[in-house]
Amino acid sequence: MGGKMPRELLQKKNVEGVLFFIPENIRYLSGFSGSEGYLLVGKDENLLLVDSRYITQAHEETRGCRVALVDKGITGVAAQVSSLGLRRLGFEAQGISVARFEQLQKGMESVELVPIKDELERLRGYKTGEEAAGIKKAIQVAEAAWVEVLDLVKLGAREADLALELEYRMKKGGGGGIAFDIIVASGPRSALPHAQPTPRPIEKGDLLLFDFGCRYRGYCSDESCTVIVGRATEEQKRIYGIVKDAHDRAIEQVKPGVRLAAIDAAAREHIDHAGHGEHFGHGTGHGVGLAVHEWPVVGKDSQDVAEEGMVFTIEPGIYIPGWGGVRIEDMVVVTADGCEVLTAISKDLMIV
Ligand code: ZN
Repeated sequence: MGGKMPRELLQKKNVEGVLFFIPENIRYLSGFSGSEGYLLVGKDENLLLVDSRYITQAHEETRGCRVALVDKGITGVAAQVSSLGLRRLGFEAQGISVARFEQLQKGMESVELVPIKDELERLRGYKTGEEAAGIKKAIQVAEAAWVEVLDLVKLGAREADLALELEYRMKKGGGGGIAFDIIVASGPRSALPHAQPTPRPIEKGDLLLFDFGCRYRGYCSDESCTVIVGRATEEQKRIYGIVKDAHDRAIEQVKPGVRLAAIDAAAREHIDHAGHGEHFGHGTGHGVGLAVHEWPVVGKDSQDVAEEGMVFTIEPGIYIPGWGGVRIEDMVVVTADGCEVLTAISKDLMIV
């Protein structure tokens, strides 16, 4: 999918080709969905180098791309690419370790290597209609599974079992696997923003935080729902209300031309004024696409503005150590005059 070839990048960087290592970028440019491969985007052709595990898959999945076998990993890649006689070659600096870079350099001593930063990630930030459809489908599958799992939330049910049920139902429902490790965090554990599910049994009065997403044709969904089990205290309702208002205020801000830092500020200032600034340590959102966390960042230091076609999350939270946490997360796509909320589960307080 995608398939936009960054030829302008070659001109801009004055290179004869760019070597890509990051699987999501390779998938975006060539269609190849394997977990390991090397894509050379040249002036006249694209060359995908894979080892024997992936050769059949690479032929099946790619269009308009020459596929060749490579062995000995990066050393083999260096040998094949240097045989093409390039003098200046861009490479994806974020996709390679220092050790592998040294091997690459050693194998192509006559080639000048030019680091390429996040140019392709920025291109991937604007979704085509086909990409947005993939994301919407991933959301539908994940939400249908979550609604089923909500029926399994009972006193004594265990976090880890609920996470497993959710994963099973997302796959059974047509999802291509989980987009990231599912978070199910109950009671005081909900104060850990990235908690791992444990065998802890759910108790009456627990906050219960789910953060889940699945993939469809490579595209990810990401959503968080926090519910309260049995009966809610006034304090739980109050904290939930603050996070919900912060979430709503941030979404109201989203339209083309608005600084992403201003969207973050809409949520952050609300939580700050309520006296919980120190309990909201992460950014308000992040881009979602072929990767579950991708450009752009919706945070304090973000330099970018919202533009039509961007898909990102809005997910403020309050996490109080020893007490619990609330995170409310939806996904939005920026439209010509505002935004559309892609996720459909209501974020009004739910007591189950
Ligand atoms: Zn997220």
